[in-house]
Amino acid sequence: MKNLFCKIKKVPVILTAFVFAGNVFLCSCGPVKTSDPEVIENEPVIEEVTEIVSEPEEVVSEVEEVEEVVEEPEEVYVPTAKDLSPYEEIKLDGVKEHHFVSDDYCYIESEKYVLFLDKDVDLPGDFVTNMDAIVDEIERQLQVSCMPEDYEYCGVTDNSVYFDGFNPWEDWDIRPKMSIFIMTDEDAEGYISGASGDDLVIADYALYSEDVWNSNPEYYASEYRVRFDYVDYYAIAHEMTHTITLRQIHMTDILTEGIADYMSREVVNALAPNYPSIGENKEKAEQYLYDAVIPEKVNADNAERIFINDYQDIDHADRGAEYVTGRYLCQFLDETYGDDFFLKYKEQIDADGIDYGYDECTEEVRINYANALKEVFGDDVFTKFGDWCVKNHALQELGGVW
Ligand SMILES: [Zn+2]
Repeated sequence: MKNLFCKIKKVPVILTAFVFAGNVFLCSCGPVKTSDPEVIENEPVIEEVTEIVSEPEEVVSEVEEVEEVVEEPEEVYVPTAKDLSPYEEIKLDGVKEHHFVSDDYCYIESEKYVLFLDKDVDLPGDFVTNMDAIVDEIERQLQVSCMPEDYEYCGVTDNSVYFDGFNPWEDWDIRPKMSIFIMTDEDAEGYISGASGDDLVIADYALYSEDVWNSNPEYYASEYRVRFDYVDYYAIAHEMTHTITLRQIHMTDILTEGIADYMSREVVNALAPNYPSIGENKEKAEQYLYDAVIPEKVNADNAERIFINDYQDIDHADRGAEYVTGRYLCQFLDETYGDDFFLKYKEQIDADGIDYGYDECTEEVRINYANALKEVFGDDVFTKFGDWCVKNHALQELGGVW
């Protein structure tokens, strides 16, 4: 199956640059020679002399221009770690039923991200098509770019902890694109998906090759590890939302996890009709979506207190309340105040200068985030949210399903 995918090498790219430089040089020389015969045929001798005298100056200026043009290709080709990398660039053919299995580290570059593939990754042929659609849909719905100008970018993250201490992508620089690491975990150390403003790590059993899965009894003989026959695009959209929103602002736990969970469902629902693999994912997995445990029902009286508390003091084993509370809060904001709710809130946080960056999200910080929400949507935003929850039977079941 591997021959269905073409592998790009870097040598032709470099050659193209030089051929292009040659064309530029030849084109610039052409007009100088063709002007000579016209000068000889002209009748008035005295006037002709004047013209001839002026021409060499023009020729000189054209030669100077040619020299400037020739310098450009040298600036274009600056070898980087990526150019010199021994790892191949892969392209998928877009066909869902086709599969590419990596036998070494390799990468796939798209317009807004680069996929860094571990060994023994098994990608369906439409994976990049679906990833592109997910990024575009999140940008469209949140009305922000995944590559904002004011984000402080860094090079490709050192994720050597996943590669036995080796970093195949050392010194790579793909700014401002997102780095997406697709991992296999052949020793079953328990890798899970995660995200930051710089990168996403995707660990999905459906993307492990048959060889990896069948090489370790921790997988094939496990009762609790389930390998689905579809890629979990809900999880990917969740992590992708983290990276895109973190490139805009930091938020409280409720908002950070809530918007990621909200967008994962919104994105899958929006794309399912036109993207068969995402449609299949929705059809098979939607029934397993659930609301996590919450410690108290949400209403008009306690909604703001719960937002400020941010579930910072609940037991770790019960975590999940922030996901479901934030998801319903985002759904409420979207339905009540419009599609640009995130953009408006982000702009208010920027205007108030309350983004805490990498500092601790203390109670004082969380009060600032609550006040920013009220500044944008009105002082009654929390009481309205509480009433909306009661009316829609959202966040009203204690215990939930875990
Ligand atoms: Zn998350």
